[in-house]
Amino acid sequence: MKKIQMVDLKGQYEQIKEQIDASILEVIHSTAFINGPEVHSFQKELEEYLDVKHVIPCANGTDALQIAMMGLGLKRGDEVITADFTFAATVEVIALLQLTPVLVDVELDSFNIDPEAIKKAITPNTKAIVPVHLFGQSANMDAILAIAEEHNLYVIEDNAQGIGANYQFKNQKTQKTGAIGHVASTSFFPSKNLGCYGDGGAIFTNDDDLAHTIRGIVNHGMYKRYHHDVVGVNSRLDAIQATVLRAKLPKLDQYNNARRTAARKYNKAFQGIDHIITPQVKGNQCRTDKSTICETCDCHVFHQYTLRVTNGKRDNLVTHLNNQGIPCGVYYPIPLHSQKAYTHDRYNEADFSITNQLVQEVISLPMHTELDDEQIEFITNTVIDFIKDD
Ligand SMILES: *Cc1c(COP(=O)(O)O)cnc(C)c1O
Repeated sequence: MKKIQMVDLKGQYEQIKEQIDASILEVIHSTAFINGPEVHSFQKELEEYLDVKHVIPCANGTDALQIAMMGLGLKRGDEVITADFTFAATVEVIALLQLTPVLVDVELDSFNIDPEAIKKAITPNTKAIVPVHLFGQSANMDAILAIAEEHNLYVIEDNAQGIGANYQFKNQKTQKTGAIGHVASTSFFPSKNLGCYGDGGAIFTNDDDLAHTIRGIVNHGMYKRYHHDVVGVNSRLDAIQATVLRAKLPKLDQYNNARRTAARKYNKAFQGIDHIITPQVKGNQCRTDKSTICETCDCHVFHQYTLRVTNGKRDNLVTHLNNQGIPCGVYYPIPLHSQKAYTHDRYNEADFSITNQLVQEVISLPMHTELDDEQIEFITNTVIDFIKDD
């Protein structure tokens, strides 16, 4: 059996090596390393793929979030509501901009921000909601857009883990995540579903004025050469990363399909096993049976395949899998509201009961585009034997 990787970047590279090597060399020969035609073409191709009016490439997903918030003109003291159960980047940029992060609990089944918790956290100072499409599944955008409209709030989608996912609205309309809110951010970190070979990120919006503002912000607040109208940053996607992304973008749906196929096999093996809860898919068309990953839609792109282990033995399972040569991850082990940098007197533990539970139960298994049946069988048998032996 091939050695099992958490994310198999090497195996994926080998499939596209010729194209990648040639296009990187071409960039080197062109010496157009910053901006230039590769970055521009990638931007256009991603706009088309997502069906969004504007893609603004930048240096990484954390910058993308920060720049999105700067573009909206959020001011010191404005409250921004986001999920307690996510990667720290989301809350970090809110705090960096001296906005006030307001963390709220998530849903037990989808792991995504809970619209009811958002409603409870709204005050006259609330200006924006940041749903994170965690592990590759859209947050409940029907509910979130309705709340935002009622209270006149911006919706900033953190789409770092959700690129390629479709959201199915109640009225059956579908839209790619990242094209739904006022503005969205994504990351092209190598292990993301669309990853480059270094750092990269992008901001998406359908708003022409906001896109113009943001194009200036990423470039030192410059709208006319050497005229600095606003305080900006330097955040660029380089041409080598753009050329890698151009090679991979046409394969993104195929890559996400490979992830879904692996997830389906995992689910099948874990069906009916006590103390293991498989990831729940909540797309409106899939709601009839949440543990099925249907063949016809792409409402989950499985950035992570995350189980809940409900017998209290999650940590023992992590150790056991590692001893058997199976990498795994705990995303995330500590709620953001309990992190030293982000804790606050206003938080009440009772308001975070789901996140507090999830940090004890979740385990993410290897998930990437190159998993084969032998590896999946070894992983699922090892997990099941351990759980059953208990
Ligand atoms: C990866 C990630 C980011 C940050 O992306 P970088 O490119 O590493 O800066 C932000 N939010 C979420 C949810 C992520 O998973």
